[in-house]
Amino acid sequence: MSPEQSHWTVLPPLAVRGLRSPLVESLQSYVNRLARVSGASPDGIRKWAASAAHSGDEPDRYAGSAVRAGIQQLTGMLEVRCTTLWVMENWLVAAPSHAPADRLRRWCPRCIAEWDDEVSWEPLCWDLGVLMRCPVHQCELESLCPTCGGIQRARNGRPTHCGSCRQSLAGKGIFSTRSHYEIWSEHQVAQLLMYCSDPSEEQLPAEQFRDFREAFGREVVSDDTFTSLDRQTVLELLGVRCDGVRMLPSRNRMTLQRLLNICSLQGIGIMDLVLRPREAASRPLVVGWRDSSSIPLPPASHDALFSSFRRVTERMTADHRNVYVPPIDFILKAMRISRTMLMDVAADVYARYESKRKDQVLEVAQLHYEKSFRSAVWWLGQHARSIPKEVEVARLMSYAVATSSLSKESCERTVMAALRWHNLLGEIRTRSY
Ligand SMILES: [Zn+2]
Ligand SMILES: [Zn+2]
Repeated sequence: MSPEQSHWTVLPPLAVRGLRSPLVESLQSYVNRLARVSGASPDGIRKWAASAAHSGDEPDRYAGSAVRAGIQQLTGMLEVRCTTLWVMENWLVAAPSHAPADRLRRWCPRCIAEWDDEVSWEPLCWDLGVLMRCPVHQCELESLCPTCGGIQRARNGRPTHCGSCRQSLAGKGIFSTRSHYEIWSEHQVAQLLMYCSDPSEEQLPAEQFRDFREAFGREVVSDDTFTSLDRQTVLELLGVRCDGVRMLPSRNRMTLQRLLNICSLQGIGIMDLVLRPREAASRPLVVGWRDSSSIPLPPASHDALFSSFRRVTERMTADHRNVYVPPIDFILKAMRISRTMLMDVAADVYARYESKRKDQVLEVAQLHYEKSFRSAVWWLGQHARSIPKEVEVARLMSYAVATSSLSKESCERTVMAALRWHNLLGEIRTRSY
């Protein structure tokens, strides 16, 4: 577009609401308002924007951010980038800004009760999974319709009413006590949003974050008060690994939750990391966290799920010295938890489980074990009722010895592990866990 044409825009150049504040508008809210003003559908605008961005001079790397780039182009409003965590794009994966139109919505029932189309907007902070409450009313954010219990999709377009039953999503809100961690992370997120919603801020370079993590990693490696397990946990959390001499990045971008966990571990605020990364890395580690039984990671939004996960893994690793623990992927799959999510929310559980597994099965035998475990679990699924009978166990035993390349003793342990897992799986499926 030439400079003379630049005052003409395809879509109306609406001002973004809530700039330079923790309540800055979300991209979907902006799209919804554009749709209302222009008479198009929100979905139509998203698609149009994505294709405009791809045909433009700067094709975006990520499909989701193409919508943001396209809207920016079609409205001529640079500040549209503030409706996302664009500033942090080189640091964070799957920023909510990139979430597709069918992502699940959360809202504050009190904000909805006070809604006025002329002046209200949906803030970006409702999309951030790390935030549990409305910053204005302090009540919990909700995600189910109070009338029909239905989930809400971002694409619905009408923010105040349920997409299924059409009843209002307004309510009085639920108030509960907040943990210290929650208060701290609310404060961090508010500061980050203020920063990211200032249109004059530029994108943070990826190197800055990587340098911080590497410097932090070096401190951790050289600090011999760490146990090797704790050291491993922290390095995995940082997304770096040490080859003995150098610190190498094992990942580039991470979730906001993990970023907050790293800050909390180092005892710094998120803005220290953004504005003064060098100093942030060399600050001494907070005294005390290593004394606790686990790293003080937050409950986050999957509190209930992860406490069940903790219970399941504790049960699988408790006593039973001669029974192998199942490969962690089986538990993750059964409980519908991704490995990344687990690392972000319960890195300590993951590390403890993996170290137990490595103690039990030598790395070289690991593949054989996993294969045998998998086929034993499959066999049980085919042949056994919920609690397998002795005769079935004996048959499984001879099947395992015949088909597996493990020793007889290892076979026994594998079969016992598969049996325990089979029984627990029944409990997980009936949600008695
Ligand atoms: Zn509210
Ligand atoms: Zn409803």
